[in-house]
Amino acid sequence: MALAEAARKVANEFEYTSEDVNAAVKEFLREMDEGLEKDGTSLSQIPTYVTAVPNGTEKGLYMAVDLGGTNFRVCSIQLHGNTTFSLTQSKVKIPAEIMTAKTAEELFAFLAKQIELFLKEHHTEHYEGHIQRIATGTTDKEYREQEIFNLGFTFSFPVQQIGINRGLLMRWTKGFDIQDAVGKDVCALLQKEIDKLHLPVRVAALVNDTVGTLMARSYTSPGKTSTLLGAIFGTGTNGAYVERLGRVKKLAGGKENAGAYDASTGEMIVNTEWGSFDNALRVLPNTPYDAALDRDSVNPGIQMFEKRVSGMFLGEILRRAVVAVLQDLSVPLFKDEDSSVNELHSTTQISKDSSLFRTWGLDTSFLSIAHGDSSPGLRITRQALDRDLGINAASVEDAEAVKIMAAAVGRRAARLSAVAIGAILIQSGRLETVTGNEELDVVDIGVDGSLVEFYPGFEDYVREALREIPQIGEKGEKRIRIGIAKDGSGVGAALIALVAGKVPNPADAAGE
Ligand code: ADP
Ligand code: MG
Repeated sequence: MALAEAARKVANEFEYTSEDVNAAVKEFLREMDEGLEKDGTSLSQIPTYVTAVPNGTEKGLYMAVDLGGTNFRVCSIQLHGNTTFSLTQSKVKIPAEIMTAKTAEELFAFLAKQIELFLKEHHTEHYEGHIQRIATGTTDKEYREQEIFNLGFTFSFPVQQIGINRGLLMRWTKGFDIQDAVGKDVCALLQKEIDKLHLPVRVAALVNDTVGTLMARSYTSPGKTSTLLGAIFGTGTNGAYVERLGRVKKLAGGKENAGAYDASTGEMIVNTEWGSFDNALRVLPNTPYDAALDRDSVNPGIQMFEKRVSGMFLGEILRRAVVAVLQDLSVPLFKDEDSSVNELHSTTQISKDSSLFRTWGLDTSFLSIAHGDSSPGLRITRQALDRDLGINAASVEDAEAVKIMAAAVGRRAARLSAVAIGAILIQSGRLETVTGNEELDVVDIGVDGSLVEFYPGFEDYVREALREIPQIGEKGEKRIRIGIAKDGSGVGAALIALVAGKVPNPADAAGE
């Protein structure tokens, strides 16, 4: 078979039609509703207890900390109230012995110590004034009411959130292993160590990174329109959106949460955990490459949406497709023209230990390179094939074939992303109201992650698919504004701390 024809055949397998998009939107809406009603569903729809989004006029000085996999970041954020902010930060690598400490206290004491060091260095007067007041007998409690730093705690491990600043650690991931902490409230653990050091800091909010993205975008977006959705397309994919409180039915029964949030806005941000949309594969596409990737993954059968959309997986999908074409001996991919077509290894330009033959051997950034390549003779793609995969002397036809397949994988990911975005747009009802005022009619979406930031035309593909959804159409699509949320984890956490600071904290009231 001719090479271009073989590549187009593979590309066709990644076709995701208008009908497919619309069927998936319908299923997404169904799973959203199901998730709002009960626990243990495909879309988790986790209530975040965050009930207000900023509009850019918020002011004040806040703190944020971020415990990710490798580093602990401490920052303070000055919100200027005009959609801009200044950020001061420090970053420290978590020592290996702390990641596997015997007690939770060891980890959280380490974190509190970093906060103390940060305050001493960057907020010296505030810190020293505080220490002096303690020395002169002003009680901690009195001080806390006045000049306390409200802190947002971004904690990227699975937690069962039970209040805006309360969440129980479900399990550790990413190399952490401190059994003592499992099942405990991570905010309380941090606050306890902060209090031991008499720091003027209150852990005001527990933050998920998608919610941070939504808040950060809502603050920085132009105009006073509040943002509807924060979405991440990076290593993984997930989204958090503003839901009407009355629809979060599973909240109603949780008596222990009464008073843990401010119901006056009538809204609450919900973390969809959409990476696990349609794990049952009712509507998601499933090429042989998707199926094989899932089979060989550490978590077969789960995160099925994420496995077709996010940066961790797209390179691997393409790798599998390319290998399939390569193994078809009748197709001249990476094969010398004049050699026998029957002996693969003697005829290819690839060494056997090319990372093309290794699971996870192709990074998703390669898709961006190939898809965006308009250099003469696809020189850039051929260079990348050489550099990343050790394929030297790839022909222009080889590069063109790979480009066709890469584009198909990327386009499908963007159209699937449009399913999630489109369903949330429809659910929000925001397109149903038209004021005629262009600024007020904007529906704003904040995004973050290397895929959406660097894959050429990702947003255009998303928009194309959104227009194919009848409830949105060309008119609705025009009203959508999509913007990158920079520094989401720091600014977002600060903004959540701000919102949380306005809510009476039941933990404080109970004297805990
Ligand atoms: P994180 O998810 O850890 O916050 P990123 O948003 O940077 O980090 O996403 C990292 C993911 O994006 C990785 O899976 C990587 O393969 C992918 N990626 C990195 N650069 C690009 C690029 N230029 N185009 C597409 N994907 C990319
Ligand atoms: Mg990120």
